[in-house]
Amino acid sequence: MFKSLHMKLMLIMLLLITSLMAVVGAFLTTNVSSFYTDSFYDQMNDMFGSDPESDGTAMARNASFMADLTAAAADGAADRMQDILEANAGRLGIDSRTRNYFILDGVSGAVLAESGESGGTLAATPNLLAALNGSVGDRSDLTADYMDVAIPLSGGENRYIVYILDSRETVSQLNSQLFTIIMQALMIGLLISVLFSYLLSKALVGPIEKVTEGAERLAGGDFGSKLPVESPDEIGILTGTFNHMADVLQDSLNAVENERSKLDTLFLHMTDGVAAFDHDGALIHCNPAATQLLQRAIPKNTGYDELFGSVYPLAQILALQRPNYADAEMVAGEKTLEVYFAPFSDKASGGVLVVLHDETEHHRSEQRRKEFVANVSHELRTPLTNVRSYAETLRDGGEDIPRDTQNSFLDIIINETDRMTHIVQDLLTLSRLDAGNTEMNFTRFDFGDAIASVVRANALEAKRRGHELRLEPAEPLPLILGDRQRLEQVMMNILGNAIKYTPDGGHILVTAGAAGEHVWMEVSDDGIGIPEKDREHIFERFYRVDKARSRESGGTGLGLSIAKEIVERHHGTIRLVRHEGPGTTVRLTLPIRQEESRPVE
Ligand code: ADP
Repeated sequence: MFKSLHMKLMLIMLLLITSLMAVVGAFLTTNVSSFYTDSFYDQMNDMFGSDPESDGTAMARNASFMADLTAAAADGAADRMQDILEANAGRLGIDSRTRNYFILDGVSGAVLAESGESGGTLAATPNLLAALNGSVGDRSDLTADYMDVAIPLSGGENRYIVYILDSRETVSQLNSQLFTIIMQALMIGLLISVLFSYLLSKALVGPIEKVTEGAERLAGGDFGSKLPVESPDEIGILTGTFNHMADVLQDSLNAVENERSKLDTLFLHMTDGVAAFDHDGALIHCNPAATQLLQRAIPKNTGYDELFGSVYPLAQILALQRPNYADAEMVAGEKTLEVYFAPFSDKASGGVLVVLHDETEHHRSEQRRKEFVANVSHELRTPLTNVRSYAETLRDGGEDIPRDTQNSFLDIIINETDRMTHIVQDLLTLSRLDAGNTEMNFTRFDFGDAIASVVRANALEAKRRGHELRLEPAEPLPLILGDRQRLEQVMMNILGNAIKYTPDGGHILVTAGAAGEHVWMEVSDDGIGIPEKDREHIFERFYRVDKARSRESGGTGLGLSIAKEIVERHHGTIRLVRHEGPGTTVRLTLPIRQEESRPVE
């Protein structure tokens, strides 16, 4: 209830006013009471006292009053005494109500006369008893609810007592009136204090409330609205500091937001996959590349263990000290991934960052390189073994070997040497093409003319094998830009294969044409064809469907891969065409123009 500053201020004010009033009230009532008592005894002393130091007038008055009284007492005239007292009632403060005089018999204590109507009954007060004993009773007792003085008077045989009794009712009345006034003042004071404390708290709390509202807006992300600085006091300074803090906070947040959006863009577009997990293994963030590399959907509730638990345990990574990291290789589908794991904070609230790098191509090319080296060694070892064994036979056999056999052995050695030269030449061509330092001699030449010359060059071999070789260009062909010699080498390879892999007496058809920006050439044969499983591989290095047949016909298994490299340098394509019936159809397509923007090696 008293949590707000408003209420606290009001409570302080109320307590202040109440305690102030209580102190004032207590002080006033005590003082009024003692003032009344003091003034009573002073008054009595003035009238009845015989103080030689009191002033002359009082003495004179006192002297005549007391002398008259004493004379009346000596005469035994109580009624005269009463007259004297009545005559001095004003000076004695006798009002017959709260203050009365009594004339008592000095021996019996019986009331002979009185100003009021008490009926002669008086309490035996200490002062009265003292007077009965012959001495003046003027002791004051603050605890008593009355005040009295008793003066003994004696003359001759007569003894009297003049007794003045005040019931202090006036003081009680005065005090109760004072109490009422104080209560009224308290009420008014309380009302004023409530009003003041309200106004004061409004003046104090208002600006604080505004700063609080501003802080709430700030917490809600609204940095735009500034708080007005209304006064140069402490609250004004607080408001100014608050505005400055909001500016600094906004700048910092902008900087953080900027950094975040930079990172987001980076994560979004980087080719490496990135996934972040908290220390419990729950996914925090994951970029599209990670989804693509892992070849699976990664919903928000995917855990670390589900994705990488089998590759590297989470606890081990969290135990690493930065900047250490762990790496491992994993296979996802047909992809080989290099995975790096690093903790991103040493604190308990940290987690693990996983970076995925696609190593598939590197892996494949490494695989291809190994296969290639194995193939080269194998291809060269076979002829070398043949050469060595025939040469040894010739050396060891000497003159015992007939001349014809010797010659046929030497022919084999020459053939194998040619074969090796052929392989080495093809390998050299390929490695130059791979390295990209093969000079291409680009000229504008007649595509149809080139085809015709290749067909002519193969006519004799085709005829020797009993093939029917036909050339049927559909229409006059345009000039194209390219390296004529190398493109003729490609055509030779295609047509050569058709002749080689078609049993004697086959049919070979060469067609050509132009379509749009391209020219094409197709070589179809009705030979042994290429089985389905081998079709996608025949452009690979050393790939041969039937190794024995290829070797027999002088093939190296490199012809089509060299052809493919050359055609790709011309931005063309070479592929197998599907068709009904036996045999093989190879289609070569080349652009008529080589675009400027495309690099032509
Ligand atoms: P090779 O020197 O062995 O002929 P290529 O690269 O020219 O090597 O050809 C690769 C393989 O493709 C050949 O070994 C052969 O098995 C197959 N091939 C190529 N052309 C034909 C064709 N017209 N008919 C049947 N098979 C073919």
